[in-house]
Amino acid sequence: GGGADDGIVRALPDTLASKIAAGEVVQRPANALKELVENALDAGASRVDVTLKRAGSELIQVADDGGGMGPRDAVASFGRHATSKLRHFEDLERLQTLGFRGEALASIASVAQVELKTKRRQDPTAWCVRVDGGEVVSEAPCAAPDGTCVSVRNLFYNVPARRAFLKTPATEFKHLVETFQALALSHPAVAFSLTHDDTEVWRLAPGVPQTGGAGSGGGEGGGAQADREAALVRRLSDLAGGVDASELTAVEETTSYLSVRGVVAGPDRARRSRGDQYLFVNGRYVKSRSLDHAVAQAFGALLPERRHPLFALFLTVDPRHVDVNVHPTKTEVKFDDDRGVYSFVQAVVKRALAEDGLGLTFDPNA
Ligand code: ADP
Ligand code: MG
Repeated sequence: GGGADDGIVRALPDTLASKIAAGEVVQRPANALKELVENALDAGASRVDVTLKRAGSELIQVADDGGGMGPRDAVASFGRHATSKLRHFEDLERLQTLGFRGEALASIASVAQVELKTKRRQDPTAWCVRVDGGEVVSEAPCAAPDGTCVSVRNLFYNVPARRAFLKTPATEFKHLVETFQALALSHPAVAFSLTHDDTEVWRLAPGVPQTGGAGSGGGEGGGAQADREAALVRRLSDLAGGVDASELTAVEETTSYLSVRGVVAGPDRARRSRGDQYLFVNGRYVKSRSLDHAVAQAFGALLPERRHPLFALFLTVDPRHVDVNVHPTKTEVKFDDDRGVYSFVQAVVKRALAEDGLGLTFDPNA
């Protein structure tokens, strides 16, 4: 028979499963910041205000003016694998939102003390939910503006090993800033602010709205594209102190497989660190040593030794040709034609630099 030891295989309690998953989704404050801001953007925010204390270890707060949630969803959003963005596996291929795993809020809340205040326009009052270490400890109506404000306090307070593993505040802050910049660059039409320890670090004005229509005559396509480019140039020059629009080269090229657009700063603006290389695939900020290298190669001999070009490039590719799902923090990508993408990016940047009179000759066979 089965004996006394039968029936010992059981599903983990949800809060424990989330706490384990949190190790993958949120390794440091910057990961939590990214998830919260992406949620704000997915909710259609036109304004995102970030407040940090002690490099995020004391507080990471993200306030948005997006669609908000009703009371039921406010609580449900902390559930493991709870999402409003994905219903069927096939949806994965056409996904337009930044989130989809439904893991972020549950994971963050399992390793922190979280307060969520949210209000939809049509609701008479906001709803406030508090979750400590994954357990909902209170929910009640409260006063708050339309939109959502999530405050994450004392990240990893209940995972001492991970808290101890955090790097110096300076290092964690650097990661937070990089994350903030990437999100701000990929959404130049949205107003952003960043405040750290009561000091305002950035206040970024919204760029021209992405979907125009208002005034300015002309065709839809060309005007909207020019607006987008202008907003991006402005955002990059706001963020990369001292770089002005005239030092940025626009990049724009499309094939049936891939489109690349964005801006690259001239060789004079190349950096000592790799920190200002912003690459996005289908709107997501990703890291790719290989594509960073492709851009550097496009500069050829113009790039001073041990310098890295400053750029913000947006690749758009049919989601079927790219896997953004390689890691839960979603910063790595794999194309089905990695080498083709490398060559294309290099060629396109090289051509753009040449056309901007940087003295390179473009060889389409190179
Ligand atoms: P995902 O973003 O992958 O769906 P999350 O755990 O990040 O998973 O969020 C769970 C759900 O909570 C979202 O699908 C969304 O419906 C809701 N939500 C989270 N943050 C916000 C926000 N700032 N505004 C409106 N809804 C939100
Ligand atoms: Mg999310």
